[in-house]
Amino acid sequence: MTRVTVWNEYRHEKDSEAVAEVYPDGIHAAIADGLAERGFETRTATLDEPEHGLTEEVLDGTDVLTWWGHRAHAEVSDEVVERVRDRVLDGMGLLVLHSGHYSKIFKRLMGTTCGLKWREAGERERVWVVEPGHPIAAGLDEYFEVPEAEMYGERFDVPAPETLVFASWFEGGELFRSGCCYTRGNGRIFYFRPGHETYPIYYQEEILRVLANAVEWAAPTDGPEPTLENVDPIENLD
Ligand code: ZN
Repeated sequence: MTRVTVWNEYRHEKDSEAVAEVYPDGIHAAIADGLAERGFETRTATLDEPEHGLTEEVLDGTDVLTWWGHRAHAEVSDEVVERVRDRVLDGMGLLVLHSGHYSKIFKRLMGTTCGLKWREAGERERVWVVEPGHPIAAGLDEYFEVPEAEMYGERFDVPAPETLVFASWFEGGELFRSGCCYTRGNGRIFYFRPGHETYPIYYQEEILRVLANAVEWAAPTDGPEPTLENVDPIENLD
């Protein structure tokens, strides 16, 4: 069974009534429950736990890590960021969610600012599937809508995705590349835009379906261990 660790900063939920009303047990609980219902073995980890809940042992037992952070990106220790990065390069999948675009780990793996345009006005978002044959789009219609969302607009300062699975339109007129696939080393990374602390987006059926599909896509495969050192020839060169 694929083992998922759902990481959350878990600060908004503790000091904002409006957020706690939407996510009483935290955003991580909503995501972990949704994934558990879809057949994954889930655990959660949060910023204020020792080592942010991401010890070597936890990461070694994680096939796919999901990352939600917003206002405390700077509090994530560089040591843990490097540990997560090493695991991704080694094959662990990583799902970076919504405001996680500005997390240290995403910026480290992308190498760009990962900045974007944004506005919080409860706009409708229409998420278009632009790569219908991709496993992350399995079971979806041509598009789905998020009734109330924070707007993220282009330009999104990331490297061109290896595959763009979703593109979003917003009521205010902006566009956004909202489902971006990357590989780094042996690891697969999926950035997924929807999700904000004051909207019940992580309970929405289509969103949970995408997350479940993305976990399956990002899970490590049983590929060969690459040799990254000086080697003797396989054929006789004499
Ligand atoms: Zn947000």
